[in-house]
Amino acid sequence: MLSNIAARDVETLVHPYTNLATFRETGPLVLERGHGVWVYDTDGRPYLEGMAGLWCTALGYSNEELVEAATEQMSRLPFTHLFSGRSHDPAIELAETLKELMPVPTSKIFFTSSGSEANDTQVKLIWYMNNALGRPRKKKILSHRKGYHGVTVATASLTGLAANHADWDLPIPGFHHVACPHHYRGAEAGETEEAFSQRLADALEAQILAEDPDTVAAFFAEPVMGAGGAILPPADYFAKVQAVLDRYDIRFVADEIICGFGRTGNWFGSQSLGMRPATISFAKAVTSGYLPLGGISIDEPLYRAMLDESAKLGGFGHGTTYSGHPVACAVANKTIEIYKRDRIIARVAEKAPHFQARLTALGDHPLIGEARGIGLIGGIEIVADKASKRQYDPKAAVAARCVAFAQAEGLIVRFLTGDRIAVCPPLIIEPDEIDTLFERLTRALDRTAAWIK
Ligand code: PLP
Repeated sequence: MLSNIAARDVETLVHPYTNLATFRETGPLVLERGHGVWVYDTDGRPYLEGMAGLWCTALGYSNEELVEAATEQMSRLPFTHLFSGRSHDPAIELAETLKELMPVPTSKIFFTSSGSEANDTQVKLIWYMNNALGRPRKKKILSHRKGYHGVTVATASLTGLAANHADWDLPIPGFHHVACPHHYRGAEAGETEEAFSQRLADALEAQILAEDPDTVAAFFAEPVMGAGGAILPPADYFAKVQAVLDRYDIRFVADEIICGFGRTGNWFGSQSLGMRPATISFAKAVTSGYLPLGGISIDEPLYRAMLDESAKLGGFGHGTTYSGHPVACAVANKTIEIYKRDRIIARVAEKAPHFQARLTALGDHPLIGEARGIGLIGGIEIVADKASKRQYDPKAAVAARCVAFAQAEGLIVRFLTGDRIAVCPPLIIEPDEIDTLFERLTRALDRTAAWIK
């Protein structure tokens, strides 16, 4: 029997990424408030937020400074836009700060409201740039199977997950996927991580040659693949891929929407994973998830091409009402100030060994085939048989069941495709809370094992 508020929800809301059929029976988990790494439901039950919301609430749930920054901007100038040369100081300050922080040569910043819009803008600008450069055939875009880059028509096409393609008439033409860099699942028996990386880089090159390098414009990759399974790439992967991309003048876009702003123990995942992208997409932790904001870095060659197009066409025909919303920018400025002042990112690096030790110890659990991560992010994979890596029938939805047990234990984690579970807590999590997280997750796994029997 659903509570009153749950019944109202079921009758009125369509939830993103939810099994709309089973949801009618289970109903929602309605959260009411949060404090630190904890969130509370309408009955006052606490849950350790082991996913930082959706990989975003880096500073936890009760940061008064962020609330004050929003309130102050809200009362001073709640809205103005950046169209037609209009501007405001929070956006200028944020662009200056980001230009300095970016680990890639950056001339300008373009703001969006979400990660999908950021990657969508990347795709459009790649096409626009190659038209400006007089190479209109160079338009195809590559990305990983199981990569996640958003849900707009172009970014769902970039995304390499069946749920985003089946019956959506996607991907649209011109979007191609390459093998997922997941050693645990993709490597041959006895193949080292380095050898696996080399094999995938060779396959990438073969695919580029088969498509015709003059038609391949860009390659998108997440440093750590998030929604596709919280998958850490194998050793040397990006160095080997980079060499291929450089050979054929293919633009490398790092989707840092999860990894940006400290998640891997550096400001950007590109720094932790040895990537040298031309541009970075960011969102989520730039405001600690408190308000919607995303964006991309623009390098000088791209900016030059945009200038030329503006001169030729009489303007730059792209932007959304809320690109660089002043309240979101004010919150982002305060968020980054706190990251710097409170050494949040250095502290992630300090806490990471403890987090990763607890994570990899889950690999000893009878149900877990792989447990791997970096910084304060990790993925575990439930298997029916460790030796053969055999999986349970997807219909049994074992990882979903484990996540439900975790919720009953007062822990929020997320199940992903392939019976994987992601862990990605707020960056402010303390060592004793890391212990609580893994104790609860272990209990959830034990309950799952008992349920299977
Ligand atoms: N790229 C990555 C790596 C993501 O994890 C996400 C969202 O989870 C997106 C893009 C899309 O961002 P949004 O949901 O804000 O559109």
